[in-house]
Amino acid sequence: MPLLAICPNGHRRLIPFRLLKTHDNDRTPLYGRPFKCKACGSPEVTLFAIESQAEMYGVRQTLPKGSAAG
Ligand SMILES: [Zn+2]
Repeated sequence: MPLLAICPNGHRRLIPFRLLKTHDNDRTPLYGRPFKCKACGSPEVTLFAIESQAEMYGVRQTLPKGSAAG
């Protein structure tokens, strides 16, 4: 499942899990990573785990077409 990134300005984006985990031995906490909003460059992005297909489907409905990462 991807993660949902929400910035203080309300930009939302799906982040593929593989983009966050760079190496098998990488023990950096996922949620502690600095992550910038691609839309406005804000570093205050909050990450949320998506737990189910249904939740992801719901999230995708709120995103502009073509912005969902695979
Ligand atoms: Zn933003």
